[in-house]
Amino acid sequence: MSECECWAMVSCLDPRYDMWAEVDPEARMPIKHPVAHRNGQGRFFEGDLGRLSEEQKAAMFRLLAEKFGGIPGDVREHFESLGYFPIREPVSLVICRLHTRCMT
Ligand SMILES: [Zn+2]
Repeated sequence: MSECECWAMVSCLDPRYDMWAEVDPEARMPIKHPVAHRNGQGRFFEGDLGRLSEEQKAAMFRLLAEKFGGIPGDVREHFESLGYFPIREPVSLVICRLHTRCMT
């Protein structure tokens, strides 16, 4: 299993901040690694579902369903089959020891 402890954070001025703060008191999200991917909508990091508690996941899927429409169960199924949830830039990163080593 990964020992990664990398995190993504958004500014309190970012429109996502309030939603993140409902999932995590420090408004930070676990990411799988600090390498950005790119799709048609821009650069994103892979959020790590495995480092969210059941309560956090339930809150996040409920909020995403409210924001984008749909039902939390479908949202959950979508991201669980994807294996991550995309976190778009701009974010600040906290890079863990494991990945600091990899990147130097
Ligand atoms: Zn890491």
